[in-house]
Order: sequence, then C-alpha cells, then structure tokens
Amino acid sequence: MSRTVLMLPGDGIGPEIVAEAWKVLNKVNEMFSLGLDFESGLVGGAALDAEDTPLPDDTLDRAKKADAILLGAVGGPKWDSLPMARRPEKGLLGLRSNLELFANLRPAILYPQLAEASSLKPEVVSGLDILIVRELTGGIYFGQPRGVRQLESGDRQGYNTYAYTEAEIRRIGRVAFETAQQRGKKLCSVDKANVLEVTVLWREIMEDLKREYPDVELSHMYVDNAAMQLVRAPKQFDVIVTGNMFGDILSDEAAMLTGSIGMLPSASLNSEKQGMYEPCHGSAPDIAGQGIANPLATILSAAMMLRYSLNEEEAAQAIETAVSKVLDQGLRTADIMTEGGRRVSTTEMGDAVRAAL
Ligand code: NAD
Repeated sequence: MSRTVLMLPGDGIGPEIVAEAWKVLNKVNEMFSLGLDFESGLVGGAALDAEDTPLPDDTLDRAKKADAILLGAVGGPKWDSLPMARRPEKGLLGLRSNLELFANLRPAILYPQLAEASSLKPEVVSGLDILIVRELTGGIYFGQPRGVRQLESGDRQGYNTYAYTEAEIRRIGRVAFETAQQRGKKLCSVDKANVLEVTVLWREIMEDLKREYPDVELSHMYVDNAAMQLVRAPKQFDVIVTGNMFGDILSDEAAMLTGSIGMLPSASLNSEKQGMYEPCHGSAPDIAGQGIANPLATILSAAMMLRYSLNEEEAAQAIETAVSKVLDQGLRTADIMTEGGRRVSTTEMGDAVRAAL
C-alpha cells in the first residue's frame, strides 16, 4: 500500500532541518518497507515569494490528499511588514483550519543525556516523558461573541467567549484516551471546574468517556495546580488533556522543562488521524543558512508521524532509539552543547541519526 507524505520545508532553517528528517525517513522507508511516497510543496514566506500567497491552492490540495504532512517552520523578518492576511503564519493557520486539525499533541521528553540543559534539578526532570493533548480549534480563542465594546457608562469592555460543545470535548477526549492507551495508560484532564461551567461539562464528558477506556486511569486537576505540579514533580504525569488556552500555556511550560527547544516535536491531528507534524520551534532566522540548527525536533516529528498517522510504531521507535544513540555518542548541535560533547553541524547530526538506525 503506497502512502503519501507531503514535505513542506517553509522558511529560515526549515529547509535545512526538513532535509535531515527526509534522509532519515528515506532510510526507515527502505528498512521497514513502508511504501511511503514523498512530495514537497511551498508554504509561508517561500510560497509568498514564489506565488504571492502563503498557502498556494496546489499546496492545500496536496495537503488534503496526503496521508501526513511534515512541516519545517514558517516566517522571518523579510515578511514581517506584510499585512496580517498575507503573513507566512497564515499558511500554517490555513492548513490547520482546512484540514480540521483539532488535536495538538506535544510531548515533553527530556533525554537523560541532556538533563543538565534543564533549569530544574536533574533528578526532578531526568527521564521526563509527558505528552500534552491540547484542543486546537475551539475554546476561548475562537468563541463568539468577542470584541471590545462601549458600555453605557462610557467605559470600554473587552470580552471573549469560552465555549465548548459536547461533541468538541468528546473528540479531543477520545484522542487523549487513545493516546494514553498507547503510552503509560494514565490520563490527567486539566480544567477549572471550580469556576468555569464550560469545564464542568468538560469534566463530565471525560468521566463519561472513561467507561469506554477502562484500562486508562483518569484523574482531574485544576489548571493552577497543574501549572505548579509541572515544575514541582513533572514525572507524575503521563498524558495531559486540556482545552485550547490552558494547553497553550501548559505545553510551553512543559516544553521549557526540557531546556531545549531544538528537541521538541509536535503533531496536529484530525478525526481521520491525518496529521501535520512540525518542530515546536520557529524558523530561527538568526541562525538560518549557517548549518548549525538542531534537526532533532524535526526528525522526532517524523517519528511521531510514523506512529500517529501512518501506524508504523516499529519505525517510529527505531528513529527515537537512533536519536538517543547519537546523544549517547556525545554528538551535540550548538543549542544542546553539554560538557564533553562533540559539536556537530545540522547535516552531521542528520547523517549520524541515519547511520544509527
Ligand atoms: P524561534 O523558535 O524561531 O527561535 C527562538 C530561538 O531559538 C532563536 O534563538 C533560535 O536560533 C533558537 N532555535 C530555534 N530552533 C532552533 C533549532 N532547531 N536549533 C537551534 N536553535 C534553534 O522563535 P522566534 O525567534 O520567536 O521566531 C522566528 C520566526 O519564526 C518568526 O517569524 C516567527 O513568527 C516564526 N515562528 C514560526 C513557527 C512555526 O512555523 N510553527 C513557530 C514559532 C515562530
């Protein structure tokens, strides 16, 4: 069975890091006879330069048909003065909304070899492996009505609406339970059910779903406590599920526990498990073209793609093990340099992962 992966390098360091992930994917494609066909397309600033739009129709058409998408990053100073509707980021948002990618999966993994890169004590974070499942297309960021209005008193009032339908909660809940089943079988649902009715409903639906997943242990935590627990004892978590705004904040907090943005992959999935996979970092224009960017977040995003959209767990694990091996060998790009490490370039790191497979 042949499956198509659309590669979207984007801008800045995007083409450099996607090239390394592509090398690694080619190798596992061969090793495990995955039958993957690769295509590439334009998005973001690169698409603006070539076709005067951040999301060309051709890219969107091919994205819709692809089984999975691997994206580098978009944006950069060259396009910063463009009006909002023509900014590179619109390409990314257009893909997310057109493909209805409502489930954002962000692991925060701290490889023991990099424990000293974290701002927390090594014993608190070493071996950390948590996954945050964030609802991405609903909640307060999209709720209507919204705006700034003039009150009769003459004062102005800004307002937003925090709303989730039962169906929206159920579909993100299912992704979270199923993901927990594939991991440590522990799910913590984060809400503010002591104050917000919308999250009272959220909690009720999560409890309801629990009956369908008896092998998963479900717990609930208020968001303020979750923020605290993430820095106090992060290893207590396996999978966390939460709404759009809480997830936005908590996933950045969890990411920073690991100390290096160059190591963090992410996935955004729709109900058909079609997904867009990308590193958590941006296009890093400050280091673009220098051959020093860390390609590991993108390579690990490719592993997530194999796991969640292409159902190729063995190949996913092979990549993750290869990454761990090169870290064991002491290879480090500049951003994760540790004492005694050997500094390597973007391509050297990609080649080393490929060789370690
Ligand atoms: P950034 O993540 O690009 O960079 C922040 C810092 O981390 C920089 O010092 C950069 O050099 C470093 N860094 C990032 N990735 C790295 C890697 N793989 N290896 C080594 N170092 C790395 O964030 P920023 O500087 O705020 O944004 C730069 C551009 O990226 C902006 O145009 C922004 O809009 C865009 N952006 C895009 C995405 C995306 O495509 N998903 C996400 C965030 C920012």
